[in-house]
This record gives sequence, C-alpha cells and structure tokens, in this order.
Amino acid sequence: MKCPDSIRALDRDDPLAHTIDQFELPAQTQYLDGNSLGPLPRASRQRLAEVTEQQWGQDLITSWNKHDWINLPRKVGDRIAKLIGAAPGQVVCCDSTSVNLFKVLSTALQVQAPHGRHRIISQQDNFPTDLYMVEGLNSLLGNNRCELVSVHADQLISSLDDSVAVLMLTQVNFRTGHCHDIRTLTEAAHQAGALVIWDLAHSAGAMPLSLDEWQVDFAVGCGYKYLNGGPGAPAFVYAATRHHGVSSQPLTGWMGHAKPFEFSPSYTAAPSIDQYLCGTPSVLAMSALDAALDVFDGVSLDVLRAKSLALSDLFINTLRAADCWQEFTLLTPMEHTRRGSQVALAHPQGYAITQALIADQCVIDFRAPDVIRFGFTPLYLRYEDVWLAAQKLIRIVDTQTYLQPEYSRAKAGPVT
Ligand SMILES: *Cc1c(COP(=O)(O)O)cnc(C)c1O
Repeated sequence: MKCPDSIRALDRDDPLAHTIDQFELPAQTQYLDGNSLGPLPRASRQRLAEVTEQQWGQDLITSWNKHDWINLPRKVGDRIAKLIGAAPGQVVCCDSTSVNLFKVLSTALQVQAPHGRHRIISQQDNFPTDLYMVEGLNSLLGNNRCELVSVHADQLISSLDDSVAVLMLTQVNFRTGHCHDIRTLTEAAHQAGALVIWDLAHSAGAMPLSLDEWQVDFAVGCGYKYLNGGPGAPAFVYAATRHHGVSSQPLTGWMGHAKPFEFSPSYTAAPSIDQYLCGTPSVLAMSALDAALDVFDGVSLDVLRAKSLALSDLFINTLRAADCWQEFTLLTPMEHTRRGSQVALAHPQGYAITQALIADQCVIDFRAPDVIRFGFTPLYLRYEDVWLAAQKLIRIVDTQTYLQPEYSRAKAGPVT
C-alpha cells in the first residue's frame, strides 16, 4: 500500500517527529494500543540496566541515600504534576490506581461525614475497578457512611444533592473515548457541596490538564498507559494542598508516617502529600517510569493534543470514505472537546475483526461486547501508521478475512 504524499508531508512537518525514535517499537507494526500499555522508552531500558547493575548490584542498601531511592515517589510525583497542571508537593507516585482510589475515597468520605454526606455519585459505565473500590469501602463502612450511586452520564449533575459526598468520575471513558469537561463538572459538584475525584487513567500524558486551576480535590491515574512506565508501573495520586493534614487516609503504612525512621509504635500521618504513601516503593518499576517521563521534557501538551486529534480525525475520515463504514457505529464523539485520545468502533464481529487486525500487525484491542478500540499516542505514532491501520481495517472488512475461524477463538487472559 502506497501512502499518499499528503500524509507523508504531515509526518515531515510533525513537531513531535523527534520523540518517535525515543521508543523501541517492533518493525512493520502499527501500535494503536498505547492507551492500554505504552511501549518501551529507550531511556527506561537504559535506566533499568543502570539501576540493576550499579545501584542494586553494587551499591546495595546505600542506594536509598546515595541514589535517593527514598525520594523517588515524590520526585516522580512532581514530574507527573507538571503534566496534569498541579503545583509541586501535591502528587506522589505509588501503588496502583485502584489502591490510590481507595485512599482518596476514604479521605473524601471522612471530610464529608460531619456534613452528613455519604453518597458517591459515579457513572454506570465507569471503569469497573473504580466502582469495585467503592463497593469494597461500602463493605467496611456500611450504607450509612458510604453508598454508591451510579447513574447515566447525563444524570450526573441532576444527581448532586446534599447527601452527596463525592463525585467520582473517569475523564475519558475507556470504552467510548468520550471526554468529560473536568472544569464544568467540578464546579457543579462544588456548588452542590460535593468533592471530586477524577480518574485520569486515559488523560495523563494524553492531553493538557489544569487540576489546580480547575480546583480539583483529588485525582488518580495510571503509570503504564500514556506515561509509558511499563507493565504494572506504579500509579499516581493527587491531593490538593488544602486537603493535606485535614484527615488521613486509612492505609497507614510507615512510608506515610510523619517520621518513618523514628519507628514510633503509633501512627502520625505526614502533614504533606507523603501521607498517601503506604509501603516501600518498587524502585525498579518507579525508575523505569521516571526515565519514561524524560520523553515529555520539552514537549508542549497543546502540541501533543493537537496531533492526537489530527491522528484520530485522519483515522475516522479515512474510514468514512470507505464503503464498509456503514457496518460500524462510531462510539467516539466527533467534537474535539468531547473526544479523548482513542477511537471506539462498534461492530457485531468486533472480536474477530480485532484478532484479524492484530494478525496483520496492527495492534489494537477489544472490549466486550462489540467495541474495537484504537489508541492514538502522538509521541510515537506517525500519520502514516494511522493511515496504514485504516487501510488494513478496510481490507479486512471488505474481504471478510475476519470470518476465518482462527480469529473467533476466545483467548485466555486479557483480550487484546
Ligand atoms: C486502566 C485503568 C485503571 C487501572 O487500575 P489499576 O489499579 O492500575 O489496575 C483504573 N481506572 C481506569 C479508568 C483505567 O482505565
């Protein structure tokens, strides 16, 4: 397939062209799944070798001071803070997104309990772990102190009454790619006396964010998606300074203690964002993420966002011009302000089409029952990759290649 010159020209003029080479990507492959697992940054490979051979291998336990391992969660947190519009001292890198949700949900409920507020409003189609974590907290606290109310997206604002403690949402829907307006929803929640928790799993590293300016209370997000920190990379948690020291989260491990190395028999929460730490950080994993963030140095998130939208526009418009377009339902909004960094297409044969595309070296993923997801990651995708992905999809659907039996077989483990 010959890529049109007009598309090659977009790659030639791409202000982010220089970041592509900072990743190791398999040859001849279009990787449109960086919204699920970012690829390997060369800097992370190098840092892992260094940390393993010198720091762990030679310097051993002295590395906690010598290589400042002990401050890694704050240091990486402050680097992530820059990507989400937060002043330093409000983000730490630690644990998983799910665990961090538990911490901020607990804090928010404690802050709101004296006001008689106990409901958590969320969306029915939020990422399941977010809802599950509320269920877990509910099993500890009971319905009078923690009650989950999940509603349809268009009922969020009308559900805010004086029983609501928290509005807990994911900015970009993992299935449809629909993007919420954080500023408007945060304002509405605050006007109703509720706090907000934003899950930025599909936003951090994908678009500019201004958490401080938008007066967000708490946020969490993933290290292994758009931040490219590697499989199972530690997550992050944001708590606005005004909430520090007001109440403490209940996973009171020693790393969140005001003075962990005094080994006191009783817990005193650190007065800072450190209180969101729990146990010893995973130094190897966090070092890989730290190095992965180098790619963002000098990158304007506005430029990144503009390229992300241009890539998803190119993809949608290329498909729209094809006859097979009528077989798909576009789940992702066309309006830029409502679109995240992915495109979701529903098709009755979505699973088999996904498998056929992967076999054709275009890596994407599928979400039951019928959603095919394409992630657009401007740091390492070229316009040509996106054009090629669209051509492959068109060919597979036109020729019905996906009907071959090997593409319908269910796989064990995550469906990608
Ligand atoms: C990927 C994702 C998570 C993942 O949570 P982990 O605890 O890191 O597994 C959470 N929330 C959303 C919205 C996600 O997309």
